Amino acid sequence: MSTKPIDCEQALRHLFEFLDRELDAHDHEAMQQHLHTCKSCFSRVEFERRLKERFSALRQDDPTPAVSGRIQSLLKRL
Ligand SMILES: [Zn+2]
Repeated sequence: MSTKPIDCEQALRHLFEFLDRELDAHDHEAMQQHLHTCKSCFSRVEFERRLKERFSALRQDDPTPAVSGRIQSLLKRL
């Protein structure tokens, strides 16, 4: 199966589905191939992945208002 290359715009559009593993096998593969060749999308995905991990860790800890405020201001800067 040959995978059609995707551009950065498509990669960013699929970013969150990729992280949530909601893409079908073909799109997932295309995404991975793009990330192999594109440093800027790769670092974007890594950034979002770390953010997501932090969010799920926080959710388990039942965040205090102070922590939620810090997340809000972090999100505003994105
Ligand atoms: Zn890219």
